[in-house]
Amino acid sequence: MPFAARLKILVYVALYLSGWAAIIVLTGIVGAPGWVLAVMGSFSAILAVLALDAFHPRVNLFAPAIVRIPPGSDNRSPIALTFDDGPVEPYTREILEILEQYGAKASFFCIGENVVRAPELARAIVARGHTLGNHTQTHRNLMFASRRQIAEELDRCQHSIEDATQVSPRFFRCPKGYKNPMLHAELRRRSLRLVGYGYPIWDVQNPPPEELLERLLSRAASGDVVVMHDGYPPGAMGSRDSLVTALPAMLEGLRARGLTPVSLGSMAGRI
Ligand SMILES: [Zn+2]
Repeated sequence: MPFAARLKILVYVALYLSGWAAIIVLTGIVGAPGWVLAVMGSFSAILAVLALDAFHPRVNLFAPAIVRIPPGSDNRSPIALTFDDGPVEPYTREILEILEQYGAKASFFCIGENVVRAPELARAIVARGHTLGNHTQTHRNLMFASRRQIAEELDRCQHSIEDATQVSPRFFRCPKGYKNPMLHAELRRRSLRLVGYGYPIWDVQNPPPEELLERLLSRAASGDVVVMHDGYPPGAMGSRDSLVTALPAMLEGLRARGLTPVSLGSMAGRI
Protein backbone atom coordinates (compact mmCIF):
# COMPACT_ATOMS: atom_id res chain seq x y z
CA MET A 1 0.00 0.00 0.00
CA PRO A 2 1.55 3.34 -1.00
CA PHE A 3 2.34 5.96 1.62
CA ALA A 4 -0.51 8.29 0.48
CA ALA A 5 -3.11 5.53 1.01
CA ARG A 6 -1.73 4.68 4.47
CA LEU A 7 -1.82 8.36 5.37
CA LYS A 8 -5.47 8.60 4.29
CA ILE A 9 -6.47 5.68 6.54
CA LEU A 10 -4.47 7.19 9.40
CA VAL A 11 -6.32 10.50 8.99
CA TYR A 12 -9.72 8.71 8.99
CA VAL A 13 -8.84 6.82 12.19
CA ALA A 14 -7.47 9.99 13.84
CA LEU A 15 -10.65 11.92 12.98
CA TYR A 16 -12.83 9.11 14.35
CA LEU A 17 -10.87 8.87 17.61
CA SER A 18 -10.73 12.63 18.09
CA GLY A 19 -14.50 12.81 17.55
CA TRP A 20 -14.92 10.30 20.33
CA ALA A 21 -12.53 12.18 22.60
CA ALA A 22 -14.53 15.37 21.97
CA ILE A 23 -17.79 13.58 22.91
CA ILE A 24 -16.30 12.29 26.17
CA VAL A 25 -14.77 15.65 27.11
CA LEU A 26 -17.94 17.60 26.27
CA THR A 27 -20.10 15.14 28.20
CA GLY A 28 -17.80 15.60 31.19
CA ILE A 29 -17.84 19.42 30.93
CA VAL A 30 -21.59 19.84 30.64
CA GLY A 31 -22.22 17.01 33.08
CA ALA A 32 -24.54 15.15 30.73
CA PRO A 33 -26.06 11.95 32.09
CA GLY A 34 -24.67 8.54 31.15
CA TRP A 35 -27.46 7.73 28.76
CA VAL A 36 -26.39 10.60 26.47
CA LEU A 37 -22.94 9.05 26.26
CA ALA A 38 -24.53 5.63 25.61
CA VAL A 39 -26.73 6.97 22.77
CA MET A 40 -23.82 8.83 21.22
CA GLY A 41 -21.60 5.78 21.61
CA SER A 42 -24.13 3.52 19.87
CA PHE A 43 -24.53 6.04 17.07
CA SER A 44 -20.78 6.25 16.69
CA ALA A 45 -20.44 2.44 16.65
CA ILE A 46 -23.10 2.18 13.91
CA LEU A 47 -21.21 4.80 11.88
CA ALA A 48 -17.98 2.85 12.33
CA VAL A 49 -19.65 -0.38 11.08
CA LEU A 50 -21.18 1.44 8.08
CA ALA A 51 -17.82 3.03 7.28
CA LEU A 52 -16.06 -0.35 7.48
CA ASP A 53 -18.60 -1.86 5.07
CA ALA A 54 -18.43 1.15 2.76
CA PHE A 55 -14.65 1.32 2.54
CA HIS A 56 -13.31 -2.21 2.86
CA PRO A 57 -13.34 -4.35 -0.30
CA ARG A 58 -13.47 -7.63 1.65
CA VAL A 59 -16.01 -6.56 4.28
CA ASN A 60 -19.50 -6.88 2.81
CA LEU A 61 -22.12 -6.76 5.54
CA PHE A 62 -25.16 -5.88 3.45
CA ALA A 63 -24.50 -7.61 0.13
CA PRO A 64 -22.65 -10.84 -0.62
CA ALA A 65 -19.70 -9.97 -2.84
CA ILE A 66 -17.30 -12.00 -4.94
CA VAL A 67 -13.82 -11.42 -3.53
CA ARG A 68 -12.21 -14.79 -4.33
CA ILE A 69 -12.53 -17.57 -6.87
CA PRO A 70 -12.71 -20.98 -5.22
CA PRO A 71 -10.66 -23.78 -6.79
CA GLY A 72 -12.52 -25.89 -9.33
CA SER A 73 -12.26 -29.50 -10.44
CA ASP A 74 -10.09 -28.61 -13.45
CA ASN A 75 -6.90 -28.36 -11.36
CA ARG A 76 -6.18 -24.93 -12.79
CA SER A 77 -5.24 -22.14 -10.40
CA PRO A 78 -7.40 -19.22 -11.50
CA ILE A 79 -6.68 -15.53 -10.95
CA ALA A 80 -9.22 -12.85 -11.92
CA LEU A 81 -7.58 -9.74 -13.35
CA THR A 82 -10.12 -6.92 -13.43
CA PHE A 83 -9.75 -3.58 -15.20
CA ASP A 84 -11.91 -0.65 -14.03
CA ASP A 85 -12.92 2.76 -15.41
CA GLY A 86 -12.65 2.09 -19.17
CA PRO A 87 -13.11 1.73 -21.97
CA VAL A 88 -10.66 4.44 -23.00
CA GLU A 89 -8.38 4.78 -26.02
CA PRO A 90 -5.61 3.80 -26.40
CA TYR A 91 -5.23 1.85 -23.16
CA THR A 92 -8.18 -0.56 -23.38
CA ARG A 93 -7.21 -1.51 -26.93
CA GLU A 94 -3.56 -2.02 -25.95
CA ILE A 95 -4.52 -4.14 -22.95
CA LEU A 96 -6.85 -6.25 -25.11
CA GLU A 97 -3.99 -6.87 -27.57
CA ILE A 98 -1.60 -7.98 -24.82
CA LEU A 99 -4.22 -10.26 -23.21
CA GLU A 100 -4.81 -11.82 -26.64
CA GLN A 101 -1.08 -12.45 -27.16
CA TYR A 102 -0.91 -14.37 -23.88
CA GLY A 103 -4.24 -16.15 -24.29
CA ALA A 104 -5.40 -14.52 -21.04
CA LYS A 105 -8.98 -13.66 -20.13
CA ALA A 106 -10.04 -10.82 -17.83
CA SER A 107 -13.00 -8.71 -16.72
CA PHE A 108 -13.60 -5.05 -17.51
CA PHE A 109 -15.82 -2.93 -15.25
CA CYS A 110 -16.84 -0.17 -17.64
CA ILE A 111 -18.29 3.27 -16.94
CA GLY A 112 -21.48 3.82 -18.98
CA GLU A 113 -20.44 7.28 -20.22
CA ASN A 114 -17.12 5.87 -21.46
CA VAL A 115 -18.99 3.07 -23.26
CA VAL A 116 -21.16 5.68 -25.01
CA ARG A 117 -17.97 7.47 -26.15
CA ALA A 118 -16.17 4.32 -27.31
CA PRO A 119 -18.77 1.63 -28.09
CA GLU A 120 -16.34 -0.16 -30.44
CA LEU A 121 -14.01 -0.83 -27.49
CA ALA A 122 -16.90 -2.28 -25.46
CA ARG A 123 -17.72 -4.54 -28.42
CA ALA A 124 -14.05 -5.59 -28.67
CA ILE A 125 -14.05 -6.60 -24.98
CA VAL A 126 -17.04 -8.87 -25.55
CA ALA A 127 -15.84 -10.18 -28.94
CA ARG A 128 -12.55 -11.33 -27.39
CA GLY A 129 -14.29 -13.36 -24.73
CA HIS A 130 -13.75 -11.13 -21.70
CA THR A 131 -16.41 -10.24 -19.14
CA LEU A 132 -17.87 -6.75 -19.34
CA GLY A 133 -19.26 -5.51 -16.02
CA ASN A 134 -21.32 -2.51 -14.88
CA HIS A 135 -19.36 0.24 -13.03
CA THR A 136 -22.20 2.86 -12.97
CA GLN A 137 -23.00 5.40 -15.65
CA THR A 138 -20.98 8.34 -14.26
CA HIS A 139 -18.63 6.77 -11.66
CA ARG A 140 -20.63 8.38 -8.90
CA ASN A 141 -19.65 7.64 -5.29
CA LEU A 142 -22.60 5.51 -4.12
CA MET A 143 -21.84 5.80 -0.42
CA PHE A 144 -24.14 8.78 0.08
CA ALA A 145 -26.49 8.16 -2.88
CA SER A 146 -30.23 7.65 -2.43
CA ARG A 147 -31.87 4.41 -3.50
CA ARG A 148 -33.31 6.15 -6.55
CA GLN A 149 -29.90 7.51 -7.52
CA ILE A 150 -28.34 4.06 -7.15
CA ALA A 151 -31.07 2.56 -9.37
CA GLU A 152 -30.52 5.25 -11.98
CA GLU A 153 -26.74 4.72 -12.09
CA LEU A 154 -27.20 0.95 -12.45
CA ASP A 155 -29.90 1.16 -15.15
CA ARG A 156 -28.26 3.84 -17.25
CA CYS A 157 -24.95 1.96 -17.33
CA GLN A 158 -26.73 -1.30 -18.06
CA HIS A 159 -28.54 0.33 -21.02
CA SER A 160 -25.35 1.99 -22.35
CA ILE A 161 -23.60 -1.39 -22.40
CA GLU A 162 -26.62 -3.20 -23.88
CA ASP A 163 -26.94 -0.57 -26.64
CA ALA A 164 -23.25 -0.92 -27.56
CA THR A 165 -22.81 -4.68 -27.27
CA GLN A 166 -26.27 -6.35 -27.11
CA VAL A 167 -25.00 -7.99 -23.91
CA SER A 168 -26.48 -7.48 -20.43
CA PRO A 169 -23.80 -7.30 -17.74
CA ARG A 170 -24.19 -9.77 -14.86
CA PHE A 171 -21.50 -8.31 -12.60
CA PHE A 172 -21.19 -4.94 -10.87
CA ARG A 173 -18.40 -3.14 -9.02
CA CYS A 174 -18.84 0.05 -6.97
CA PRO A 175 -16.87 3.13 -8.01
CA LYS A 176 -13.78 3.32 -5.77
CA GLY A 177 -15.19 0.30 -3.94
CA TYR A 178 -17.51 2.50 -1.82
CA LYS A 179 -20.71 0.62 -0.94
CA ASN A 180 -24.11 1.55 0.41
CA PRO A 181 -26.47 -0.57 2.56
CA MET A 182 -29.29 -0.01 0.00
CA LEU A 183 -27.22 -1.35 -2.88
CA HIS A 184 -27.96 -5.04 -2.32
CA ALA A 185 -31.71 -4.81 -3.00
CA GLU A 186 -31.16 -2.85 -6.21
CA LEU A 187 -28.53 -5.32 -7.45
CA ARG A 188 -30.78 -8.28 -6.65
CA ARG A 189 -33.69 -6.76 -8.59
CA ARG A 190 -31.44 -6.67 -11.66
CA SER A 191 -29.75 -10.04 -11.06
CA LEU A 192 -26.39 -8.26 -10.80
CA ARG A 193 -23.62 -9.81 -8.69
CA LEU A 194 -21.44 -7.50 -6.60
CA VAL A 195 -17.71 -7.95 -7.18
CA GLY A 196 -15.24 -6.72 -4.57
CA TYR A 197 -11.56 -7.53 -4.73
CA GLY A 198 -8.77 -9.14 -2.82
CA TYR A 199 -6.32 -6.29 -3.28
CA PRO A 200 -5.52 -3.42 -5.61
CA ILE A 201 -2.06 -2.85 -7.06
CA TRP A 202 -2.41 0.96 -6.81
CA ASP A 203 -1.76 1.54 -10.49
CA VAL A 204 -3.78 4.77 -10.79
CA GLN A 205 -0.85 7.03 -9.88
CA ASN A 206 1.12 5.49 -12.74
CA PRO A 207 4.13 4.27 -10.71
CA PRO A 208 7.13 2.75 -12.54
CA PRO A 209 6.18 -0.49 -14.37
CA GLU A 210 8.67 -2.57 -12.37
CA GLU A 211 6.96 -1.44 -9.15
CA LEU A 212 3.56 -2.54 -10.47
CA LEU A 213 5.04 -5.87 -11.48
CA GLU A 214 6.50 -6.36 -8.01
CA ARG A 215 3.21 -5.38 -6.32
CA LEU A 216 1.32 -8.03 -8.27
CA LEU A 217 3.80 -10.88 -8.32
CA SER A 218 4.85 -10.52 -4.67
CA ARG A 219 1.38 -11.62 -3.56
CA ALA A 220 -0.43 -13.20 -6.54
CA ALA A 221 -2.04 -16.48 -5.52
CA SER A 222 -4.71 -18.86 -6.72
CA GLY A 223 -8.24 -17.44 -6.46
CA ASP A 224 -7.23 -13.77 -6.23
CA VAL A 225 -9.40 -10.99 -7.61
CA VAL A 226 -7.03 -8.12 -8.50
CA VAL A 227 -8.03 -4.54 -9.33
CA MET A 228 -6.30 -2.54 -12.03
CA HIS A 229 -7.42 0.36 -14.26
CA ASP A 230 -7.57 0.57 -18.04
CA GLY A 231 -9.31 3.96 -18.02
CA TYR A 232 -10.41 6.91 -15.93
CA PRO A 233 -13.75 8.54 -15.07
CA PRO A 234 -15.36 10.99 -17.53
CA GLY A 235 -13.82 14.43 -17.16
CA ALA A 236 -10.64 13.06 -15.58
CA MET A 237 -7.35 12.49 -17.34
CA GLY A 238 -4.74 9.91 -16.62
CA SER A 239 -2.04 7.83 -18.15
CA ARG A 240 -2.19 4.05 -17.99
CA ASP A 241 1.19 3.67 -19.75
CA SER A 242 2.82 2.11 -16.72
CA LEU A 243 0.25 -0.70 -16.50
CA VAL A 244 0.35 -1.30 -20.26
CA THR A 245 4.17 -1.54 -20.11
CA ALA A 246 4.11 -3.89 -17.10
CA LEU A 247 1.29 -6.16 -18.32
CA PRO A 248 3.32 -8.56 -20.54
CA ALA A 249 5.78 -9.26 -17.69
CA MET A 250 2.82 -9.60 -15.29
CA LEU A 251 1.20 -12.25 -17.49
CA GLU A 252 4.53 -14.08 -17.89
CA GLY A 253 5.06 -13.99 -14.12
CA LEU A 254 1.57 -15.34 -13.44
CA ARG A 255 2.12 -18.12 -15.97
CA ALA A 256 5.45 -19.02 -14.31
CA ARG A 257 3.58 -19.36 -11.01
CA GLY A 258 1.03 -21.69 -12.59
CA LEU A 259 -1.78 -19.12 -12.40
CA THR A 260 -4.37 -18.83 -15.19
CA PRO A 261 -6.05 -15.43 -15.74
CA VAL A 262 -9.77 -16.09 -16.13
CA SER A 263 -12.84 -13.96 -16.79
CA LEU A 264 -15.54 -13.81 -14.09
CA GLY A 265 -18.16 -14.86 -16.64
CA SER A 266 -16.37 -18.15 -17.25
CA MET A 267 -16.46 -18.97 -13.54
CA ALA A 268 -20.27 -19.31 -13.43
CA GLY A 269 -21.33 -21.97 -10.98
CA ARG A 270 -18.12 -21.51 -9.01
CA ILE A 271 -18.63 -17.94 -7.80
ZN1 LIG B 1 -13.74 2.98 -10.79
